Amino acid sequence: MADALAWQRIHDYCTQHGVTLVAVSKTKPATEVSALYDLGQRHFGENYVQELVEKHEALPTDIYWHFIGHLQSNKVKMIAPFVHLIHAVDSFKLLAEIAKQGAKCGRVINVLLQLHIAKEETKFGMDEKEVLECLAYYKAQITDMAHVRICGLMGMATNTPDEAVVKQEFGGLHNFFTYLKDTEFFGQPDFATCSMGMSADYEWAVAEGSNMIRVGSLLFGARTPVAEKTV
Ligand SMILES: *Cc1c(COP(=O)(O)O)cnc(C)c1O
Repeated sequence: MADALAWQRIHDYCTQHGVTLVAVSKTKPATEVSALYDLGQRHFGENYVQELVEKHEALPTDIYWHFIGHLQSNKVKMIAPFVHLIHAVDSFKLLAEIAKQGAKCGRVINVLLQLHIAKEETKFGMDEKEVLECLAYYKAQITDMAHVRICGLMGMATNTPDEAVVKQEFGGLHNFFTYLKDTEFFGQPDFATCSMGMSADYEWAVAEGSNMIRVGSLLFGARTPVAEKTV
């Protein structure tokens, strides 16, 4: 069940810290999204394309939908008409496909580039060198990129209770974010979002400079393991 008290607490925390709260509703029914919507929550995050499309159709049109999972290029067209922000762009190929689909539906689609910061191999994302290569391609093909807007970086820390490890990873992501802001994106105010922090580590992320957190289980309760599919 959506937890109204937890929502109020995290919402207030975010307001105090100038952070955007993305409520991660993956695997949870639309009725639970509605419950938080009624309290005033407007940013929701989903991992699975089909589920996002269904919830978008069922729920109010003033919701900002975030796609936070690994996105396959062939599925971009399904969410391009309405998605507010795609968090986990991990290749130039995907970026180019988003630009193409943005052009087809006459939108400029907001994206974040995903930086791999965790120790786990399983997590997606680019290393710093790959991000710079991706940006080099982006600049070289800038005339084809009019329908995509790079708004910042996203990352996931190692799943560990070790505060020092997690903070070091988030700190590294934020440093790279600041570096890009001052160099590649100098003078471009759209490059302003550093998306890091989930239920277990959002306070550490904000301490390290996050301005967008993605919180699921604290708001909606634990997800059943079977629902933790990977597509
Ligand atoms: C599921 C998910 C979250 C939310 O995780 P919780 O631990 O439930 O808060 C955040 N970000 C991404 C990319 C996710 O897949």
